[in-house]
Amino acid sequence: MNLREEAAAIEDELIALRRELHRIPEIGLELPKTQAAVLAALDGLPLEITTGEGLSSVTAVLHGGGPGPVVLLRGDMDALPVAEESDADYVSGHDGVMHACGHDLHTAGLVGAARLLSAHRAELAGDVVFMFQPGEEGFDGAGHMIAEGVLEAAGRPADAAYGLHVVSDMVPRGVFTTRPGPMMSASAGLFVRVVGAGGHGSRPHKALDPVPAACEMVTALQTLVTRRFSTFEPVVVTVGSLHAGTKRNIIPDDAVFEATVRTFSQDTAERVAEQAVRLCEGIAAAHGLTAEVRYDGEYPATVNRAEEADFVAETVRELFGAERYLEMPEPNMGSEDFSRVLQAVPGSYLFLGACAGDDHTLAAANHSPRAAFDDSVLADGAALLAELAVRRMRRGLTSSGATS
Ligand SMILES: [Zn+2]
Repeated sequence: MNLREEAAAIEDELIALRRELHRIPEIGLELPKTQAAVLAALDGLPLEITTGEGLSSVTAVLHGGGPGPVVLLRGDMDALPVAEESDADYVSGHDGVMHACGHDLHTAGLVGAARLLSAHRAELAGDVVFMFQPGEEGFDGAGHMIAEGVLEAAGRPADAAYGLHVVSDMVPRGVFTTRPGPMMSASAGLFVRVVGAGGHGSRPHKALDPVPAACEMVTALQTLVTRRFSTFEPVVVTVGSLHAGTKRNIIPDDAVFEATVRTFSQDTAERVAEQAVRLCEGIAAAHGLTAEVRYDGEYPATVNRAEEADFVAETVRELFGAERYLEMPEPNMGSEDFSRVLQAVPGSYLFLGACAGDDHTLAAANHSPRAAFDDSVLADGAALLAELAVRRMRRGLTSSGATS
């Protein structure tokens, strides 16, 4: 079988599907139009298909002709609340919603992998689970699908899992990249309301002004990162939202801000949680104010099994040539709920460069209203996912990375 050539033969249909999905972007856990498009695209394939109960997921199982490992392949399907700025002829038809992270390519690519592998069903020794997942962008769709049984969809637990994400500005178009070990950070949210007592801006001593205290917290959080955590222990705390007051001469009753927190280990995440809450409460108390502080854990760190990341690299090099693979020099501080799959199943996540222009370093980043992804990479993405499944099944029921 030559999956690269077979993928090229269905490229036009995959591109058409991707553009259809691009026109109907949907946010969150309920993606009815996207789900319908996926079900239509899978129609007629020898797959056992189930849809989610609490979310509009699609789980498709391909039972191979013989016994062997269960390989899970994942594609996320949701879009973002971003107003697209593009002059392509397949722009979003939903106001204020856009496939700004390229998940339309992931969905179409996973359909491609399902078609390629279905054509070789009888030759496969093992089963493949295709995980079409809603709600990656902050809705924990992966967690919901795991709770509904996606990891055991083939009738026994998955033995390996792979997922692919397109990037516009990280690597040149067509280049695959990953790394052994930690690849993406864990995320958490810090939510603070500083409660004072409002008054006239000319007489602050008669009020309890929450604004200077909130400002102090924002800067003290940065000091916390550098004074309480080792330089070799990555922590990012970014206050992305800060609101108080209505007019310059009115001291407001309260001030609110939110921060995203990125870390790489459970221990670090727990220490940031404890210390950030204490810091904000302590600063408020020092000024005679109070602080209501909430800290919510979101996604765990995305950690690739070393031998599985090496297996991905080797597969890319053999399928497409050494120039198509670059090892990520350092982890990425983004977060990803495929991390939940990788906590339970050995596997690897990877990125695929898909910048639309010639120079990826100038490309608008994922999540930008101007982010553009070139769907000429789709066929290769589908071929790689299918090839990973085939090779992993050939490796059999071992957990070691020995490849044939
Ligand atoms: Zn994404």
